[in-house]
Amino acid sequence: MKPIDFFPKFNTLDAYSIKVDFHLHSTWTDGKNSVAEIIQSAKKHDLHSIAITDHIRSSSTYFDDYKKEIDFLNAEQELNIYSGFEAKVADFSGNIDVQKEVAKAADIAIVSVHRFPFGRKLYNASEFKRSIAQEMELELNLAALNRGGFNVLGHPGGMSLSFFEEFPTHFYEEIILGCVKNEIAFDLNGRYHNNQIALLYPLLKKHNPFISIGTDSHSTDTMGMWNKALEETI
Ligand SMILES: [Zn+2]
Ligand SMILES: [Zn+2]
Repeated sequence: MKPIDFFPKFNTLDAYSIKVDFHLHSTWTDGKNSVAEIIQSAKKHDLHSIAITDHIRSSSTYFDDYKKEIDFLNAEQELNIYSGFEAKVADFSGNIDVQKEVAKAADIAIVSVHRFPFGRKLYNASEFKRSIAQEMELELNLAALNRGGFNVLGHPGGMSLSFFEEFPTHFYEEIILGCVKNEIAFDLNGRYHNNQIALLYPLLKKHNPFISIGTDSHSTDTMGMWNKALEETI
């Protein structure tokens, strides 16, 4: 699973390559809109490629039917619609909470840090002091990158940003270097990174990882804005 088919490197981003949305949630899980409604919204915003990337776990059973629906709609449409998922990092060894067959069948596999696994429980970042939460988020990201088996690292720093409104610059840099080394795309994520552009761009420019652009929309209301913001800053 190599990112090269879908993802440009940061320093090659241009007006065309940012007209995509590779991080979208539909009614197959916790999104508000159907895949068909998402496609309409993508057309409205002039996107040429999108990926539906609903939440998945090892215990999920919906993927085959979901992929069938996406493939069917893709055949009917002019824009490219890829099937993907977002799975979580399951432990500090970098294992991913998804079935192997599903990971193989998906076009775009996003792996994200959500809650932090400890023993048999999961904890929110807010249950730790800021510096510890940031360290844990970094470690989980690096463990996943080194383990591999996916092509997009979802919203790096996102949990620390949600609860503490910051993620250290040198942690971002370590993660970006890990993306480069393992040829995994960095999810430049409209939901979490919209006020991180000034901090992230110099690092992305310097190390030039593959980039996956996504809004992480759970409703079509939030589609398109991130593409506009990027258009003004690229
Ligand atoms: Zn996520
Ligand atoms: Zn998401």
